[in-house]
Amino acid sequence: MPQQVYNFGAGPAMLPTEVMQQIQEELLDYKGMGVSVIEISHRCAEFDEILSRVQQLFRELTGLPDNFRILFMHGGARMQFAAVPLNLAGRVASRKALYCETGNFAKVAAKDAAPFAAVKTIISSADTGYDRIPQLSSELIEQDAAYLHITSNNTLYGTRWNQFPQTGAVPLVADMTSELLSRQLDFSQFGLIFAGLQKNLGPAGMAMVIVREDLLEYAGDQVPPLLNYKQCAKDNSLTNTTNTFAIYVIRLALEWLKKQGGIAAIEARNEIKSDMLYKLIDSSDFYQGVAHREHRSTMNVTFRLPSEALEERFASEAEKNGLYALAGHRSVGGLRASIYNPMPLSGVEALVDFMKKFAANNG
Ligand SMILES: *Cc1c(COP(=O)(O)O)cnc(C)c1O
Repeated sequence: MPQQVYNFGAGPAMLPTEVMQQIQEELLDYKGMGVSVIEISHRCAEFDEILSRVQQLFRELTGLPDNFRILFMHGGARMQFAAVPLNLAGRVASRKALYCETGNFAKVAAKDAAPFAAVKTIISSADTGYDRIPQLSSELIEQDAAYLHITSNNTLYGTRWNQFPQTGAVPLVADMTSELLSRQLDFSQFGLIFAGLQKNLGPAGMAMVIVREDLLEYAGDQVPPLLNYKQCAKDNSLTNTTNTFAIYVIRLALEWLKKQGGIAAIEARNEIKSDMLYKLIDSSDFYQGVAHREHRSTMNVTFRLPSEALEERFASEAEKNGLYALAGHRSVGGLRASIYNPMPLSGVEALVDFMKKFAANNG
């Protein structure tokens, strides 16, 4: 038996073992067809069944209101940084779009949107190293804006919006890449949600887009069909060949989530997991949490050690002990444990044990 390895990577991230096993079992022969799910047409009945089931399961698990469409688009989360302004900025003549800069992905989202919208960054926590979600007062949410963009969970820094802003008539757009389906949400407070698949759901390269129907109307004629929400909705995400494998994996991930007891159950488990780590960090002089307590993420737990040399040693010794990919993002440093839905309690327990021992030996 190889050593048990727990993957704490931020993305692409671990998938449930059961999901990987089912992929393995079915890979050469999907449901007796004698061919692989990777080899079948995106327009055949068997794939149609997969796609419908994904949409149905997502609605069942989230209670998504009927006036939202579920789309699958190419290009991962970042392609949405451009797709959002291309589709929504036309809601207002000024093309004004509001952005909340709570981390690197939020900043890149604003930058990618700038050619297509009059981008206005209304809050930023850059000054404090993105260690918090800044206060967003209602006067800042200008009601003549096309939309307001937030990154609901900031993967690199380990912060998240616990409460979402009340945006009035302005559609709230949320990049939920690193937390979709990790907590219960009232979807009706959003205009649009998108998420790259590779953190909680499946393989990289595609994004799930949940969009309120009335927002499908604002794309200009120059928007390419593959970036156009209305086109995508009309074609049920099959404008061109979709990634059949990715959507198949999402289906397995959603079936798995349902078996875990759904989002309420997984949310409770996610809180237990992150609490275990935060409790250790808070009670130790050796580990220093990065994110402000009231904005801490349950998905990405970020912390620092007394020196960079110790942080390097921590990451490499952890790896030798089967705890993989704990180094922080290259632009941020420090350490980060990404504990998305699939991370079992036993993985976090193993990490806590390792952290206690490492502190005792190096503190
Ligand atoms: C990982 C991540 C992205 C980038 O995803 P890609 O699919 O690589 O474009 C964007 N936003 C957030 C919040 C992320 O965590």
